[in-house]
Amino acid sequence: MDVTTDGERATRGRRMRLWIAGAVVLAIAAAAATWAVAGRGDPPSPSVATPTQTSAGPSVEERILAGAGAILKTRASAVLSGHLAQYLQYVDPANRKLRQRDQQVFANLRKLGLSRLSYQVDANWAPEVQAQHGPSARAVRVLMLVQIAGIDSTPRATALGYTFAERDGHWLLVDDDDLAAETDLKAYREPWDLGAIEVARRPGVLVIVPAGERRNGERLARESQSAIPMVRSVTRRAQAGIAVIAMADSRSMDPEWRTGGHPAAAVAAQNYAPANPEASEFKVTGSRVVINPDQRTQAGRLLLAHEFTHAAMGPLGGRAPIWLVEGFARYVEYRLAAQSGYQRELADERRELLREKIPALVVLPIDGVFHGDYDEDSYGVSWIIVEYLVTTYGQAAVNSLYADLARGPDAPAVREQVLRKHLKVSETALVAALKKYDGPA
Ligand SMILES: [Zn+2]
Repeated sequence: MDVTTDGERATRGRRMRLWIAGAVVLAIAAAAATWAVAGRGDPPSPSVATPTQTSAGPSVEERILAGAGAILKTRASAVLSGHLAQYLQYVDPANRKLRQRDQQVFANLRKLGLSRLSYQVDANWAPEVQAQHGPSARAVRVLMLVQIAGIDSTPRATALGYTFAERDGHWLLVDDDDLAAETDLKAYREPWDLGAIEVARRPGVLVIVPAGERRNGERLARESQSAIPMVRSVTRRAQAGIAVIAMADSRSMDPEWRTGGHPAAAVAAQNYAPANPEASEFKVTGSRVVINPDQRTQAGRLLLAHEFTHAAMGPLGGRAPIWLVEGFARYVEYRLAAQSGYQRELADERRELLREKIPALVVLPIDGVFHGDYDEDSYGVSWIIVEYLVTTYGQAAVNSLYADLARGPDAPAVREQVLRKHLKVSETALVAALKKYDGPA
């Protein structure tokens, strides 16, 4: 039996297993960096950013910001206190579909067990006229800040597009999909937006599955718990908890989350929180794991250990070389595989890599060519490198090396210098020594 039971072994064969890639993590980080300024909205107009009183009274934009702010506050407190009627109080009574969607979202959010929830209108975006809902209607971007009790250390930001309109002197929420075509709103959907959910909990783990898949949720929660001790013991880092998303709907996974040209089996998607009050900058606060819908019933502890490792190391920074990021995650995964009875398969894979791949190594795997048609080799080679480093220098030295490289910058000269600092060896000498490696004692 294959040691990594979590990839697309059945259809693509052993060499084509699918894993989350460092490039994927980078892509997500890049998307978030442009988050606040993306889209087709105009830059914030002076009348929005610094309201000026005119003889005509407040503008529509000024009034909508006040109206929306009050509605959003009411809705957040309604979710936290469990009052559906209050949540729907300012939702357009004529838009039945919207009310139905909202009712479902409310029920889903209640199931998550939130410790904090707030919404803030994104002031970096100019409200957009939506004349189909009436002359006063404007779509605004809203940041939803959501913290799951026992899982998130701080609220995580996710974006919404809400349309508000004035009806008989009152502001109402009239639609929720007028900005759905925006780059960062169309690809990925939060699980609570994808129909009825169920939630499985274990200490430090929360698994979100579609209604009717509770058994799979409970299974994934158990597998997660089996993965966590090894992740903690090797990384020596721990998140308060981790959310695992295993939905059937393909929109739960961003199509950009790919590795080596094919969709990832799972992704450690980084969580962001605003780094300043105006939410023009964001910082990484942790990760959640999103499992590819195609893999949700097969994914097990090894895949989860791999992703949890990315989640644990993510806050250190995104500048570590991909061979270290992926090699480290696979090292944790394979340590767990060894513990789970796969020693023989691991020994076979190690022998093959030491015989066929390591002798061909000239430099450490280069970021730009890590992923590609042969990315499975890159992962294997990287595993061997990390195993060699841990065997030779000890886990603490490897973890310090990782932390220093993750901080960056990722310039070759800096990486060489950090390598020499922690291992007292140049890259050239390291590659030469690696070729003499014959496995852990
Ligand atoms: Zn990975």
